[in-house]
Amino acid sequence: MSERVVEFEEALAEVLRHAAGVTPPPREQKAVALQDAEGRVLAVPVRAERDQPPFARSTRDGYAIRSADVSEEQPLRIIGSVRAGEMWRGPAVGDCEAVEIMTGAPVPEGADAVLMVEHAELGADGLLRVRGGRTLQSGENVVPRGAEACAGAEVIPSGQRAGVAEIALAANCGCARLQVFVRPAVAIVATGDELVELDTHPEPWQIRNSNSYALAAMVRAEGGEAQRLKIAQDSMEALRERLAEASSADLLLLSGGVSMGKYDLVEVALREAGAEFFFTGAWIQPGKPVVFGRTPRGSGGWLYFFGLPGNPVSTEVCFRLFVAPMLRAIAGQTEVAPRFVEARLSEDVKGNARVTRFLPAIVESDWMKVTVRVVPWQGSGDLAANARANGFVVLPSREGFVAGERVRVLLR
Ligand code: AMP
Ligand code: MG
Repeated sequence: MSERVVEFEEALAEVLRHAAGVTPPPREQKAVALQDAEGRVLAVPVRAERDQPPFARSTRDGYAIRSADVSEEQPLRIIGSVRAGEMWRGPAVGDCEAVEIMTGAPVPEGADAVLMVEHAELGADGLLRVRGGRTLQSGENVVPRGAEACAGAEVIPSGQRAGVAEIALAANCGCARLQVFVRPAVAIVATGDELVELDTHPEPWQIRNSNSYALAAMVRAEGGEAQRLKIAQDSMEALRERLAEASSADLLLLSGGVSMGKYDLVEVALREAGAEFFFTGAWIQPGKPVVFGRTPRGSGGWLYFFGLPGNPVSTEVCFRLFVAPMLRAIAGQTEVAPRFVEARLSEDVKGNARVTRFLPAIVESDWMKVTVRVVPWQGSGDLAANARANGFVVLPSREGFVAGERVRVLLR
């Protein structure tokens, strides 16, 4: 069996290349109520319902005036008042005139700026004067009509995921429902003779299947619909059975059984099913045995799969690095690549000259600096250490790293 173990960058590039090939996917669409749209991927863009803002909007409490009138000597005459929720019905603001205005109110005709109330002084004579030395530019404290978006303009493209900002904007555009892609079905198969489910009491030599739950949670968070299949024993029959059950899914995730052991049969079973492998390992730690490929579907097309190393931290790291971008693409998202942030190491760390390491780490930040430190762990099976981390620090293939060095972090 030909193995292909690639550098991290190459593995990611391979995934992104295939991800680009499935965008935009011919996915089914449906309408969802805006209050249920969080995390959904837009199938149809949201357009501005009208000019936004729909009128020249004051951003301050103060006085709508003609900016050219501003001088210390020249008092202004107040001709009325306008508040948010009404239009100024009086005449256009003329020379040396002012209309009292509240934040969010439409700026009356004739005025081109708003003098902040803090910069104005109302005399006993009822006249308005500008406080010493203040000047006012044309347009100051006014957002012109249509400055944020013109009526009909695309404000959220399709392929963007609805988060808080998108939901607020959609509401602003009057969209009570959004047209979204149906979540892709992601089949999850945990493999291993030692695994038991949560409803079974584990014998001392048995391990609970935690990966299926972690994977299901990450699938859901990335916009997929998780289908947890039964645990597959380390036998060809069990694996064949699961592969058949997963054949109609949009993406297949297998955990365990991809190392070099005698009972690591996942690659063998996939190959038997006609799989094409893009890589069968990556020079990363944890996660080196990770596998990426696709099998032909009976109905035409391909079913992409990932074989994830069974150790729980490897599973999570490989999901975040490789599965998430592919899943986002299949879900219809246009932005799919993992996002890294930068931080400074707060302690020295040992590296490894051969592999890129992704170690569970704690990112801490105060207003002045962002630092990261590795969580002490017992290796990639250490779920307790993993749960103390809030991300994975990236250590490129090198011997050592010293406190203060800038490194990248993959946040959870
Ligand atoms: P494998 O990749 O099959 O060689 O498994 C590597 C390690 O991960 C072994 O210690 C397994 O017991 C453990 N492991 C495999 N699958 C799971 C799973 N679904 N949940 C928790 N641990 C697992
Ligand atoms: Mg195993």
